[in-house]
Amino acid sequence: MTEKEIIDKYKYMFLDNFKFECGSGWNSLIYLTLSFLSDIDTKKLIEIFQIKEKLGGLRINLNYDKLKENLSKEEWEDIFNKIFWQLNQFEQLSYTLCENDGKSGKLRKDLDWIQTLCDDCYKLERDALNSRLVDLLCSGLLTSNDI
Ligand SMILES: [Zn+2]
Repeated sequence: MTEKEIIDKYKYMFLDNFKFECGSGWNSLIYLTLSFLSDIDTKKLIEIFQIKEKLGGLRINLNYDKLKENLSKEEWEDIFNKIFWQLNQFEQLSYTLCENDGKSGKLRKDLDWIQTLCDDCYKLERDALNSRLVDLLCSGLLTSNDI
């Protein structure tokens, strides 16, 4: 599913002009998360605050204020625990899926920033990083002692 299809399907959770701040490789995971939330939040009170990549993993940040106001303390604690647990599961899964294309991936810590990528995307990023280093060396901004 595309970002637009996902947002259209769960429009009530999003503010206007909402944008995912991560690669489309995680769209299926985002879709699963929203589908879970819509099942558990039958009154449609949860809002999505942010969907982004952080330290190589998917983060889905929610605004629970309206939901909390509408539940008893016990109901709220029960639903909060379920959501917290499930979001954590999806977050862990994102570390196994390439952020670019959704293929099987791994957390890569030796790029410009930490990313979860499949072998192919990782190789492309490594090559791009190496050619940037070569450019810097050739332009004299870096010496081999800096690397
Ligand atoms: Zn990939």
